[in-house]
Parts: sequence; structure tokens; C-alpha cells
Amino acid sequence: MSASVRPLIDVCDVQKQFRSRSGTFLQALSDTSLAVQPKQFVCIVGPSGCGKSTLLRMIAGLETASSGKILIDGVPVSSPRRDIGLVFQSPVMLPWRTILKNVLVPAEVMKSDRAASLQRAHDLLKLVGLEGFGDRYPDELSGGMRQRAAIARALMHDPEILLMDEPFGALDALTREAMNLELLRIWQSSMKTVVLVTHSIEEALLLSDKVAVFAPRPGFVRDLLDVPIARPRSAATRSDPTFISLAERLRGYFEAETAHAG
Ligand code: ADP
Repeated sequence: MSASVRPLIDVCDVQKQFRSRSGTFLQALSDTSLAVQPKQFVCIVGPSGCGKSTLLRMIAGLETASSGKILIDGVPVSSPRRDIGLVFQSPVMLPWRTILKNVLVPAEVMKSDRAASLQRAHDLLKLVGLEGFGDRYPDELSGGMRQRAAIARALMHDPEILLMDEPFGALDALTREAMNLELLRIWQSSMKTVVLVTHSIEEALLLSDKVAVFAPRPGFVRDLLDVPIARPRSAATRSDPTFISLAERLRGYFEAETAHAG
């Protein structure tokens, strides 16, 4: 029997309240627990406003929990962490810097060795399929290419964990599908631990080892689905019977919510 592995990310009974300017409290998350193992790919799906982004921000140390705790590799998160890379829906690129120089920003902030950083930035641009585009400016690239550059930048300081908040939400459907497969390839060659927030059931199932389904606000993990579909996955994975039955199960949650909201 294999010994159980300590989760790399361990969210234990976390609650989060925000206080509005008028002094009222808003409960964003209640009793949220989630364990993510090293090198796992976990997707979070749930309705808007259920606290998904808040949870990612708390894991990154950008926000504090009102109660409960978040451990990374057994250590409580108490401030912004360097071993985490973040990718958001709209990549924030410095428009006056080339793509290469945007990717180099984390290395400059951390004052890393210049020659080694330059080599790594070139390697990462190659990894994300942007070899030869390093001297372009952000507004010369498509949305999908900019998001690839954002992924390269997030990997620049070689974080163990990549947190992605709706990274492909602003892309058209075809580009999004292509980016899903690209991300799988990048994940497989970089072997990071990934937590990705998405509204797309198909995206979640195609990418992840586990899908955490969030309840409407105040959010918590109402179901944690294993996705026992062999890797490497491809566009054909969507017709896998396990994929189809899991998609139906996930859709059931959201249809019930829509009916409830109506
Ligand atoms: P999701 O990512 O699931 O759409 P969020 O985590 O962005 O949800 O937000 C959860 C709830 O918390 C929302 O109602 C949002 O308005 C509220 N919220 C998020 N950040 C703040 C903040 N800094 N101050 C006050 N309320 C916030």
C-alpha cells in the first residue's frame, strides 16, 4: 500500500467575510475545505460570486481568511508567496515592453541572474509556443498569444504552484479549445500543481484530475469529483463515456441552481 501524500495545498474549514463600506458583512465563503496533492490539476467550478477568486487570492496570500487555515506544504499562508504563479482572465501586460521583457518582469523583481533569466525566458516562450515572438509588443499579439505569454511569465520564477482564474474566459470558443490542449501540454512538461477556476464544465473535465464544485454564495465545496480519464488527453477525450457521464453530473448541479434562481 502506498503511503498517503501530504497535500501541497490544504484549505481547512476556511471562512471569508468582507465588510462593506456601509459596515454590513458579506459572507463570501463558508466552511471551505480542499486538499490538492503535488502535481495535481484541480479545477474549481461554480456560479459567479461564490468565492472562487477569493479562495485563489487567499491561497496566494493576497487575502486573509476570516477563520480556518490554508497550508502550503504544511506551512500556514500568512503573506504573498513567491512559490506561486498567477494567471488572470485578462493578462496584465506592460504595453511599452516587448513580450520577452514582460516575461522577464518576475526575474527583475527578484533580481535573478540576468543571463540565466534570459535563457529561461526564451525556453518558456518556446514552451508556450511563442518562439520568435519575444520582440513583439503585447498589442501586436492575439488574445490567445497574450495569454500564452502570461503563462510563460507566471512560470518564470519556477513556482511550484500555478493558480489560474478563468484564464481563457475572454477568448473565443475555438481559441479556448486550442488553449486547453496547449495548457495540458505545458502542464505535462512543467509538472506544476495547478488550481484553475472556470465556468466551463468541459474545460474542467478535459483538464483536471479533480473538479471541486462550489455551492452558490456563501461558497463551499459541495462535491469533489475524480476525473479518472487516461492522459494524455485530446479533443477526442470529450467523447469518452466517463467524460460524458461526469459532464451530465456537473450540469445537474448548475441546472438545479438556474431553476432555483428562476
Ligand atoms: P467568484 O470568483 O466566484 O465570482 P468572488 O470571489 O470574486 O466570486 O467574490 C465572492 C463574493 O465576495 C462576491 O459577492 C464579491 O462581490 C465579494 N467580494 C469579493 N472581493 C471583495 C472585496 N474586496 N470587498 C468586498 N466584497 C468582495
